[in-house]
Amino acid sequence: MIYDKNNIFAKILRGEIPCKKIYENEYVLSFYDIEPQKKIHALVIPKGEYTDLDDFSEKASEKEISELIKGISLVAKKLGISLADNGKGYRSLVNLGEHGGQEVFHLHFHLFGGEKVGKMVN
Ligand code: AMP
Repeated sequence: MIYDKNNIFAKILRGEIPCKKIYENEYVLSFYDIEPQKKIHALVIPKGEYTDLDDFSEKASEKEISELIKGISLVAKKLGISLADNGKGYRSLVNLGEHGGQEVFHLHFHLFGGEKVGKMVN
């Protein structure tokens, strides 16, 4: 799949549309989901142009991969939901493609927490 430079997260990364930012560094950006599904619903995205997790696994550098994974834990700490910080935990997931229910084709990890998240799959 060709990366669409006009997807909504690309526009957020370019500052063309606003977001409620949680964290940013050279490699990742994190912000609150616009339609929260749980008390806490955050997104963590790489700054590079990757459509989905498979695209990322195939093309991203080792540094980009490690920074994204570290970014998820760092954001969880900032949100007070990390077990490492005496939080109560969270769920992180990636939707991938049509069957996975992916709507925005810029890789993003969801973080759900702040309450019991419930069954893994409905
Ligand atoms: P997915 O179905 O995994 O592709 O998830 C896309 C997510 O992006 C949904 O949870 C949307 O609510 C969220 N979303 C769409 N537009 C925005 C936006 N402008 N700011 C923050 N989150 C957004």
